[in-house]
Amino acid sequence: MTPLPNAVISDLQNRDISDGDYDLLLQLDRQVTDEDGIPANIIHNLPTQVLQESHRLIIDGSNCGVCLQGFQTHQCIKTLPCQHPFHITCIDTWLTNHSQCPVDGSYIGSVSTAGSVATLQPNGHTVARSGTVHHCVK
Ligand SMILES: [Zn+2]
Ligand SMILES: [Zn+2]
Repeated sequence: MTPLPNAVISDLQNRDISDGDYDLLLQLDRQVTDEDGIPANIIHNLPTQVLQESHRLIIDGSNCGVCLQGFQTHQCIKTLPCQHPFHITCIDTWLTNHSQCPVDGSYIGSVSTAGSVATLQPNGHTVARSGTVHHCVK
């Protein structure tokens, strides 16, 4: 099956659907369903952090690209290789059946995260790869 070009998909999303679009929609539906998500080890290797009130996402009033809610102090976020941040619960759920960033569509599975055992955070604290998720309260 040939994936639908993005232009076709956005065209479908931006105009009224007619009867003739039925096959396209079917294919689009299959295309979405066929996505397997990305390997769990890659998901778990993505850098996470707990938001401090001085974090730029709080200050800027940025929103999570999955649930479109703002970020709150002490929430845990996960940052994709394209630098888009999301709530951990949101992006983990998203990545179980998608392999692309929900904001810009960049493919996540192709990015090597090797070597990022611990990620240096902007505030100077180091967050270990394991254990952080369990401390996070949505
Ligand atoms: Zn979210
Ligand atoms: Zn992105």
